[in-house]
Amino acid sequence: MPDEEVLEEGVLNPIKPEVQDPLLRALLADEPAPAAATPVDTPLEQPQAVEPEADEVDCVVIGLGAGGAPLLARLAMAGLKVVALEAGPWHNPEKDFATDERAQDFLFWNDERLSAGHDPLAMGKNNSGMGVGGSTLHYTAYTPRPLPDDLSLRRDFGRGEDWPVSYQELEPYYEELEQFLGISGPTPYPWGPTRRKGYPLAPLPLNSAAQLMVRGAEKVGIRTSPAANAALSGRYYQEGVGWREACTNRGFCQAGCFNGAKASMDVTFIPLAVKHGADIRPNSFVTEIERDARGYITGVVYTQNGEQKRQRCRHLFLCAGSVETPRLLLLNELALTSGQVGKNLMAHPGLQVFGTFAEEVRPNKGIPGGLISQDTHRPQDADFAGGYLLQSIGVMPVTFAGQVARGRKLWGQPLRDYMRNFNHIAGINILGDCLPHADNFLELAEEKDARGLPKPRLHFTAQENEQRMNAHAEKTMRSIWEAAGATDIWAFQRYAHVIGTARMGLSGDDAVVDANGRAFDVPNLYIADNSVFPSALSVNPALTIMALSLRTADKFLEQQQRRDV
Ligand SMILES: Cc1cc2nc3c(=O)[nH]c(=O)nc-3n(C[C@H](O)[C@H](O)[C@H](O)COP(=O)(O)OP(=O)(O)OC[C@H]3O[C@@H](n4cnc5c(N)ncnc54)[C@H](O)[C@@H]3O)c2cc1C
Ligand code: SF4
Repeated sequence: MPDEEVLEEGVLNPIKPEVQDPLLRALLADEPAPAAATPVDTPLEQPQAVEPEADEVDCVVIGLGAGGAPLLARLAMAGLKVVALEAGPWHNPEKDFATDERAQDFLFWNDERLSAGHDPLAMGKNNSGMGVGGSTLHYTAYTPRPLPDDLSLRRDFGRGEDWPVSYQELEPYYEELEQFLGISGPTPYPWGPTRRKGYPLAPLPLNSAAQLMVRGAEKVGIRTSPAANAALSGRYYQEGVGWREACTNRGFCQAGCFNGAKASMDVTFIPLAVKHGADIRPNSFVTEIERDARGYITGVVYTQNGEQKRQRCRHLFLCAGSVETPRLLLLNELALTSGQVGKNLMAHPGLQVFGTFAEEVRPNKGIPGGLISQDTHRPQDADFAGGYLLQSIGVMPVTFAGQVARGRKLWGQPLRDYMRNFNHIAGINILGDCLPHADNFLELAEEKDARGLPKPRLHFTAQENEQRMNAHAEKTMRSIWEAAGATDIWAFQRYAHVIGTARMGLSGDDAVVDANGRAFDVPNLYIADNSVFPSALSVNPALTIMALSLRTADKFLEQQQRRDV
């Protein structure tokens, strides 16, 4: 476990992890490498001969979402030859992103994944994205920082895990991201430590649901604040892009932002990476990761527009998200010595509470990610570990109708009758901590997908801690809506974001990567995405994924520099 005192001083890497892998240990000690290991056969059926791509590049990045794009830009800016392989297409927001949620389903990862457990996770649009920009193409762009104690759950509660990096180490990256992405938010921010710099843009206007939440929360004594959101409240100059236009309050952030006001990766880090020479290859689905006899990664095999190709590389950055990253590791029998790949699967309790108001709300209008309260971060009357935040929500009609059908078990005429109230409905939701549990994990199923690869199966059962948190949060949210004057209040049970399936830690005994994102047992493999989180954090994940991504790139570059000296 981290030494708290040292961590609080913000010293980088206070404790050296004990290196488990003999090869890596020999390399670090500058000794001759141990005898060659037998390369492991990949379980892919009928391997085909693929011609090696002529050039070996410095780095291949797999996946261009919140984890892949920031480090891609950083590596390209350092002058490295980088290739990015992204399974999905490269969209033109102005042409491709319609104000029509049904037309935008292509933004989600729609390949079938299997869900098991007592609380099977909804996949597809409740989960990960596909395309140059990954899930940031459809995220709501809430970008709060975690509070410092979010990273120390075990220290404070004796359960869950502590992070091997401190808040102080991540802080410069949060600041850099807020300024670079043009995050709109309040200054000063009401929760957490004093900040060196405020948000670069003023908060976005509140939609009706957020205004009603302010009304109710004030009456029950809960503080609220306009949220930090990575949509621009004013025009903003972006390096590598030029001027980005302000948010028009259209409210369809989860269907893709047509004017680039929302800081998805395709309008921020990716143009920057391209400007510095990164080679982006969309529609490139990686299936195999190849190694030499010493266990070093030598390249990847991918399918682009039906053609199988190989790209050789000196270093691999795996950023395929918390489902596809462990799946690729399991498929290729890579980085498995800790036994933790696919384990520790967590999902944020994301309970939503809806109410009906006499006044018109029009819940699909205005920025959906507008209001936050972190007063419930560690509630005093809690009977659970960790805590949660409260956020107002904007809902699109088709998505909402699906939730009503599932949550209220309404169908046919009763569903139509309820949906006639759509313009009078407002919602609040939580995001809370989730503890890792042996019953919650990802594995490869026997069932194959269209590519002939085993589908991932995710097991998730909310444990006592999550259930108690949900009960506390439901009571809190119901009291807010009652105070705001809502009727017909109901709760929709929901878990969002898959987290922690290739976690970081101090030792290869119980973690897949170290604090710098480097695999303990494969020296030239780095992971940067939602899978490396040791705990769920009681905030939305994207800002922290990006912060870790930049930090991983910086640590890698420092290491390369030391080698060159
Ligand atoms: C509806 C919705 C709203 C959300 N709103 C918010 C929010 O307001 N704030 C927030 O912080 N978070 C939000 N999130 C969550 C957030 O978007 C994700 O947690 C985050 O973007 C995940 O980043 P990642 O890098 O781990 O994965 P992703 O961003 O999903 O990137 C992974 C990329 O890898 C690619 N890939 C996968 N496998 C392969 C392969 N084999 N070969 C090549 N490429 C591959 C995928 O196509 C994808 O582009 C939301 C999520 C959803 C579903
Ligand atoms: S509400 Fe603003 S950020 Fe969201 S899609 Fe519309 S313009 Fe983009």
